[in-house]
Amino acid sequence: MTKLKMERLPEELRKTLGYLFKNYTEEELISVVEAYEYAKICHSSQIRKSGEPYINHPLNVALILAELNLDIVSIKAGLLHDVAEDTNATLADIRMKFGEEVAHIVDGVTKIDKIDISKTNIDKKAETILKMFFAMAQDIRVILVKLADRLHNMRTIDSMPRLKQEEKSRETFQIFSPIAHRLGIHSLKWQLEDLAFKHLYPNEYEKIADMVDEKRANRELITEEYKSLLQLSLARQGINCDISGREKHFYSIWQKMTKKGKTFDEIYDLIALRVLTETERECYYVMGLVHNLWKPIPGRVKDYIATPKSNGYRSLHTTVITHRGEPLEIQIRSKEMHNEAEYGLAAHWLYKEGKMSKYQQNWLKKLEEWHQDYKQGYTGFKDFQNELQVEEVYIFTPKGEVKHLPAGATTIDFAYSVHTEVGHHFAGAKVNGKIVQNSYELKNGDIVEIIVNKNRSGPSLDWLKWARSSSTRAKIRRFFKKRDSDRLVDQGKDILRKASKRLNLSIDDILASEKITEFLNLNQNFTENDILMKIGDANYSPEQIITLFTEEEEEEPIVVDGEKVKSKNTVFVNGESGIDVKIAHCCNPLPGDKVVGIMSKKGITIHAASCPNAQDVKEGELVDVKWGDTENEFYLAQIVLESSDTSGKVLKDIIQRTKEKNLKMKEVNTKFNDWDYVVYTISVYVRSAGQLNDIIEYWKGLKGISRVYRARRK
Ligand code: MN
Repeated sequence: MTKLKMERLPEELRKTLGYLFKNYTEEELISVVEAYEYAKICHSSQIRKSGEPYINHPLNVALILAELNLDIVSIKAGLLHDVAEDTNATLADIRMKFGEEVAHIVDGVTKIDKIDISKTNIDKKAETILKMFFAMAQDIRVILVKLADRLHNMRTIDSMPRLKQEEKSRETFQIFSPIAHRLGIHSLKWQLEDLAFKHLYPNEYEKIADMVDEKRANRELITEEYKSLLQLSLARQGINCDISGREKHFYSIWQKMTKKGKTFDEIYDLIALRVLTETERECYYVMGLVHNLWKPIPGRVKDYIATPKSNGYRSLHTTVITHRGEPLEIQIRSKEMHNEAEYGLAAHWLYKEGKMSKYQQNWLKKLEEWHQDYKQGYTGFKDFQNELQVEEVYIFTPKGEVKHLPAGATTIDFAYSVHTEVGHHFAGAKVNGKIVQNSYELKNGDIVEIIVNKNRSGPSLDWLKWARSSSTRAKIRRFFKKRDSDRLVDQGKDILRKASKRLNLSIDDILASEKITEFLNLNQNFTENDILMKIGDANYSPEQIITLFTEEEEEEPIVVDGEKVKSKNTVFVNGESGIDVKIAHCCNPLPGDKVVGIMSKKGITIHAASCPNAQDVKEGELVDVKWGDTENEFYLAQIVLESSDTSGKVLKDIIQRTKEKNLKMKEVNTKFNDWDYVVYTISVYVRSAGQLNDIIEYWKGLKGISRVYRARRK
């Protein structure tokens, strides 16, 4: 080092250069110092809120990046990241002095900074996330610099006003730590979380810090004991590994306490060990030795090497009961895996050959898809935010392949993740060998087999209701777009326009109304366009829409079911009116059905005469009952309907026709039976058994229906 006069440089920069030293020439290191000097001059008139010179901030950002083992371009960009925004220097200056790559990253970071996310609403925030992601798709280093910037700002947040501290902490939780998690950069994730936790929940943070502190001495002793025992047992087999005690982060302790309702003492992985091996094969060997030493707790052994998490995380986890009788969590991984776990995507930037693991390649591919869907309007801001916040589940195909899906994903998401065509021809699914409803939420380790109906013409818009992942929704929307979404949207608009004129409401009012969402059986997964498409697709009449909004004045029917006690003259008991009775849940009789009354301590319950519970009743308990005047009452009844058509068309037909008959429906449940028929259980309000039978007969005559019958039990 001749030209580099290290002693004159600030400590952070010397450390930073220390990280770069192995991989770069002296010439290159000097260019880093030049970036520092340039930034220092540009920021010379600025001071930070804490009173220190501004340059301390970029210096620390660069050091954080160096600690992540990032390349020299990122380091220079870190030093210069605030120059273009806050000083007189321009991007052109930076490009000229430090090259295109550095300027590109600085530009990206500046653009992200220009969106003031704290002042805007949640959608704007999501938009920011999008912009960050897309910036990243071109060069991930933009996001890494931004994360390092945020980390240093969080470290120095004490000098900010309280309100600002809370705002920034919230953002960190909502946006930045999830991104670090997605990228698999654990070391950034936990630092961001702990800092945000500290400033958002200062009291809770202090409490946990105290508790951790209080037991530290004792814990360290025990950890040492475990460590040396394990070390010895490994050494006997000639294996040499790094074993270290692992401190739990405050935020994750707090999460465990609040989410799982545990007390501090119950969180047993406060003591945890990590074993770093040389090779993957050794991991399994070490796990065997660990289980030989201490008994594993069943269900707590996790093999993330065979099935890595979607962010690429690989490791073996096990929890054992030690000779002291307490649980101990142990993570076993190779040094390479450990590096990836701590630095994630960043770990690979160190090597200039640009070698990325297949997870990272998949991640970038997914980003690109998201970008396309977003640009073309198939993916909304909300989709994005959800995607970022949620945890994941991993699911197996019948062949044992692993798929990662957002938590809460359903079989439809799974079908689309297998292949878009599989999704489009989805007819149901078996989970662990059993048919499940479309609303079934997949759980870790489920084996899912999709039932495909080759005759399907395409997806149903109803599926949006169950689609958890944004890519599933995008694929369904894209299908309709390709087919006829414009036409359907126009048709829907047309119907609403006619209705709106007569209702004296705007189309927007109608669209925003709960009556529409209820009528169409939608949830928040639907956009305005989806709703229009649905209306157009089902081809409702304007009258049907109008009825929704005019029905209001009509009196709500008096609904009678088991919980309600009837009185007055609707039922005659031993020829008398005005006696309170209950309608039995088991047989659910309707006016017109032959009934008997059974007397018990709780009163008189009305059963169908054919009800099993009404047979073999002791003489004194049987009461003579007859239906009286039930004209103004509605009774909840259930009709079961089986159909071989899985597209939902039959149901749509039925709902439409039944509306015309002025029959009120309460809910529809969908199931598949063993022959892959759809079984709908439809709850309706009726006045009598006669009306119910009429409806059943009417439905029997409709196309595509194989069986209709009244369900006796609820
Ligand atoms: Mn900054």
